Amino acid sequence: MSSAHQVILDVDGLQELLDVLTAGGYRVVGPTIREQAIVYDDIDSVNDLPRGWTDEQDGGHYRLVRREDQALFGYAVGPASWKRFLHRPVVKLWQASRTGESWKVIPEPPSGERLALIGVRACELEAIAIQDRVLLEGEFVDQHYQARRKDIFVVAVNCAVAGGTCFCASMNTGPKAKSGFDLALTEIADGQGGTVFVVMAGTDGGKTVLERLSHRPASQAECVASETVSERTAASMGREMRADDLHELLHRNLENPHWEKVAERCLTCANCTMVCPTCFCTTVEDASDLAGKEASRTRRWDSCFTMDYSYLHGGSVRASGASRYRQWLTHKLATWIDQFGSSGCVGCGRCITWCPVGIDITAEVQAIRDSEAG
Ligand code: SF4
Ligand code: SF4
Repeated sequence: MSSAHQVILDVDGLQELLDVLTAGGYRVVGPTIREQAIVYDDIDSVNDLPRGWTDEQDGGHYRLVRREDQALFGYAVGPASWKRFLHRPVVKLWQASRTGESWKVIPEPPSGERLALIGVRACELEAIAIQDRVLLEGEFVDQHYQARRKDIFVVAVNCAVAGGTCFCASMNTGPKAKSGFDLALTEIADGQGGTVFVVMAGTDGGKTVLERLSHRPASQAECVASETVSERTAASMGREMRADDLHELLHRNLENPHWEKVAERCLTCANCTMVCPTCFCTTVEDASDLAGKEASRTRRWDSCFTMDYSYLHGGSVRASGASRYRQWLTHKLATWIDQFGSSGCVGCGRCITWCPVGIDITAEVQAIRDSEAG
């Protein structure tokens, strides 16, 4: 991208962006600090962003620590992904009321909310594209996801630091945003202790919004600095995983004794599936009042780590922890390709960071690979 196509926004310009989106009827959601973690939540000011903070991540480890500068996006990804806003954890599907001898069923209308997502990382854009394939592009369209997804305005941020558990470079999903954004920002130092953003538009909607903001053309030096940010981040990934042969590797190793070794540590707590930006499984729950006059059906995120998930008459198909971990990993990295044409992993590292016992998908794949080498 030449400098002619990139502009500079300063922090005030970023505030203008938030204001323009809010005035345009968007619910603006972005990174902010809650309970000592960076999560996505409603924001209305640049002061809501985690200015001057970064995250320290490793297997089963997450800490916020102070940066030496005032960067607004100087961290990797936190526990919450955009899945929380597009494929909601809890969705009421319908409510029913008894009317005499009959029932009146009122389906829950799909959301009319327009979301502006601020600070979407490259791996997260890829994760949204994967959920699109699963929830929109198959035989059955998820109307609730479709309604929330269709009008989103996406402001991507190219990562300036790789987290300790990131491996997007291995998965070819980052750290630089390729597509799926309206605007993409790269944060660089302004030379006076502050930061500015090198911005490019990815859609006509992005261009229209950008034209309304105070900006100036990016210099050649600023464009080079922006490229350097992505190159430096790619070179400093906390993890790596060879990904070109995983489909065959895992299919050859369905009976590998290593699955039992992982199961000795795995708590089958399902944290990894909850934090994963691509996991999409749900269950439904029905409820009624004691008088039998009202009933409702609710959809909730579910996980292949629960016994109930594979329960058929007589018991769970995947009764052991080993079978459930194998199901998760082989689906994510191998059979997902058969089903949806791509890996189900974007290398965000969340399942490593938020596993309470620090089980590491990259290390488990490597252990299986090593076992073949003898
Ligand atoms: S791998 Fe870790 S996060 Fe996933 S179910 Fe097992 S213990 Fe929980
Ligand atoms: S499997 Fe782990 S690293 Fe891959 S996308 Fe899911 S949470 Fe991220």
